[in-house]
Amino acid sequence: MKGRLSPEMVAAYLREIGIDFLPVPSRAGKRTPGGKTDAPPEAAGAAESLEDIRKELLSCRGCPLCAGRRTVVFGTGNPHARLMFVGEGPGEEEDRQGEPFVGAAGRRLNRWIARLGVAREDVYIANIVKCRPPGNRAPLPEEAASCLPYLKRQIRAIRPEVICSLGAVALQYLLGTGEKITRVRGKWREVEGVPVLPTYHPAFILRNQTRETEVFTDLDLLAERLHLK
Ligand code: URA
Repeated sequence: MKGRLSPEMVAAYLREIGIDFLPVPSRAGKRTPGGKTDAPPEAAGAAESLEDIRKELLSCRGCPLCAGRRTVVFGTGNPHARLMFVGEGPGEEEDRQGEPFVGAAGRRLNRWIARLGVAREDVYIANIVKCRPPGNRAPLPEEAASCLPYLKRQIRAIRPEVICSLGAVALQYLLGTGEKITRVRGKWREVEGVPVLPTYHPAFILRNQTRETEVFTDLDLLAERLHLK
């Protein structure tokens, strides 16, 4: 046969032989140190957008935490962030405002982000669970298990270069390990093909100020990896 086949003919042929979906290679734009991409979002190669995931999550009834929530605390920041932070779950203030890390722990996290020389808007911040556990208790294993797929989808949509997990709960559920945070902090791990650096939770540091030097060491590792500063 001479000449080129039209896209419609190719599609009809593929459907005929049972193929109706072909993965398209990523054309993600280059990211600036601050995390911006030079490609429009639709060309950034994410399998699904954060907005798709957020819309689904808004009606989630996957675990009992949904009964007590005021808002679903999805996550915030740059959808093309090079650096993503993962905490535990929303507290009272986060539940009220619908944004992660806006209370006292959030203000400490903001200082850590500033220390890296980037803006809060340039990173992405999310939690293991998106609905507030009652009385700010840690999420139960079944609550974390129910919510974790959303976080994994967020990670795949953002494709950060590095994740920093904050505290023992994020370490336990994101990395699926029972190791102690005191042993693992500052040591690189991996999730979804993304390097993960566990460090302490800012709320822990508010109660144990002298341990913050260890966090600063971990922040230096992040900065080095991302060529910041
Ligand atoms: N602690 C967390 O782990 N996440 C928040 O969003 C706030 C406090």
